[in-house]
Amino acid sequence: MPSESYEIVPSFINGEWLSIKKDRCTNVYNPAKGEIISKTPMCGNKELNKAVEAAEKAFVSWSSLPSNNRAQILFNYRSLIKENLEEIAKIISTENGKTLAEAKGDIQRGFEVVEFACGISQLSKGESLAEVAPNIDATTIREPLGICAGISPFNFPAMVPMWMFPLAIACGNTFILKPSEKVPLTAVKLVELFEKAGLPKGVLNLIHGGKEIVDGLCTHPKISAVSFVGSSIVGHHVYSLASRNGKRVQAGGAAKNALLVMRDAEPDSTLRAIMSSSFGCAGQRCMAGSLLVGVGDVKESLKEKVSGAIDKLVVGDPIKNEKTEMGPVIDGNSQERISKIIEKIEKNGASLINDGRKLIDNEGYFIGPTLFDNVNSDMTVFSEEIFGPVLSILNPKNLTEAIQWLNKLNYGNGATIFTTSGASAKEFRASIKCGMVGINVGVPAPMAMFPFSGWNESFYGDLHMQGSEGVMFYTRQKVILSRWDHSYKDKQGW
Ligand code: NAD
Repeated sequence: MPSESYEIVPSFINGEWLSIKKDRCTNVYNPAKGEIISKTPMCGNKELNKAVEAAEKAFVSWSSLPSNNRAQILFNYRSLIKENLEEIAKIISTENGKTLAEAKGDIQRGFEVVEFACGISQLSKGESLAEVAPNIDATTIREPLGICAGISPFNFPAMVPMWMFPLAIACGNTFILKPSEKVPLTAVKLVELFEKAGLPKGVLNLIHGGKEIVDGLCTHPKISAVSFVGSSIVGHHVYSLASRNGKRVQAGGAAKNALLVMRDAEPDSTLRAIMSSSFGCAGQRCMAGSLLVGVGDVKESLKEKVSGAIDKLVVGDPIKNEKTEMGPVIDGNSQERISKIIEKIEKNGASLINDGRKLIDNEGYFIGPTLFDNVNSDMTVFSEEIFGPVLSILNPKNLTEAIQWLNKLNYGNGATIFTTSGASAKEFRASIKCGMVGINVGVPAPMAMFPFSGWNESFYGDLHMQGSEGVMFYTRQKVILSRWDHSYKDKQGW
C-alpha cells in the first residue's frame, strides 16, 4: 500500500494498510505552496475498536518475547531509518514546511530514541536484595502495561511520535498511534519502516482522526496508558479524561520560552543561537525562544543585531530553494491567527521593529520573522504562546529582576541564559522555575537519554517522555518476596 502519494492517507490496523473512506476528512497541505496534497480521514470508534482488538491479540506474544529479541527488531528499524533519511525528510518538509536541514534534525531526535530503546534489556532491569528478612529475598521486575496510545502535534511529525512508540514497544507493549491530522504522511512512512523491520502484526497500529478518536483512546477500557503532546488546552483535556478513566497519562503542552542575554555574553554565538531558537521551524517549536531578555544596557545593541540578522534571513519554499533558512507556518488558519496577534501586540503599545506580515500575499502560508521592542511583563504577549516567528524584547535592569519577571510565566518548558559568568549561570539555574534550562544553548531540548522535562502548564502527569522516566512510564513494577528456609530442604529430603 505505501506509495509516493495518496488521495486518502492510509491507516494501518492489524498489519494491513487500509484506505478508509470517510465523509469527514481534513486537508493535508504543502504549506509552502498552499496546495492540498492528501486527505486525512476522520476515523471513529469502529476503526478504534479494530485497532484495540489487534493490539490486544498481539500483546500476548509480543510481551512474552525476550527483550533481546524485541531489541533486534529495533536495531533493524534503526538501520532502515538511516537508509531512508532523505525520503523521510522530504515528506516532513513537504507536509510541514520546515527546511530539509530542520526535517533531518526532527528525524535525528526521533532516531536517538530508537537507539536508546535498543538498550531495553539493560534499561528495564529490576533490582534485588537478598535477606531483606530472615530467609527472604526481594526482587523487582518491570512488566509492560498492555495497549498504549500516542497522540501527537503537527510541529514535529517524526520526533514526537518517536518519543512514544519505539520505547513503548521495546518495553513489550502494543501501540496505537494517532498522529496530527495535518502531518499524517510522515507517520505512515515511520510505521511502514517498522513493519519492514520485522514488527509482528498488531503491535503498532496507525489510525487517523481528531477529537472523536482522541476521546476514544482516553476512555477505551482496554487501553492502559496515553501519551499526548500538543497544546495545553487539549493536553489538559486528555490528562483529565484519560486519568479519570484509570489510565496512566503523560501530556506535554504549550510553552513560552525565554532567551536571556547578559552584557558579558559571547556576541556571535549568542546571535546565532537566538536566530535559530526563535525563527527555526518558523517559531513552531515548544522550545522556541519567544522572549528576548536583554539585561541592562546590552538591550539596544542586541536589538540592532537581531533586527539586522532578520533582514538577511532567507524565507521561502524549502524544497524549491536549498538555501531557505525559514519555511512557512503550517496552514492558512495559523497564518491569519499570527497576523492578528502581531496587530494586537502593536495596539497594546509594543514597538514593531521587523514586520513579518509583508510576506502574507506571497504563494503559500508565510509569515516572516517579526521583532517587537518595549514589551513588558504585564502585556499579554509576555505570557501567551504565539507558535510563530515572533520575538519580543524585554529590558529588565538586572538578572534578579529578569528572573522575577520570567517566574511569573504559567508555562515551564525552557529558559536559557547567555553569559560567560559562572556566577550568573549558577544563579539563573538555581532560581528559574522551568524544567529545561540552557546555559549558552538556544534550544535546551534534552537528548533521548534524558527526560523532556516540562513543568507547570507545559506538562500534565508525573513521568515525562524519554530517558529512564519514559521506561518507567511504559512499564509497571512487580515486587516479589520469596522465602526459602531450611525446613523446606528437610521436607524434600535433600
Ligand atoms: P493541538 O493540541 O491542536 O493538537 C494535538 C493533537 O490533539 C492532534 O493530534 C489533534 O488531532 C488533537 N486534538 C486537537 N484538538 C482536539 C480536541 N479538541 N480534542 C481532542 N483532541 C484534539 O496541537 P498542535 O497545534 O498540533 O501543536 C502545537 C502545540 O503543541 C503547541 O502548543 C506546542 O507548544 C505544543 N507542543 C508541545 C510539546 C511539548 O513537548 N511540550 C512539543 C511539541 C509541541
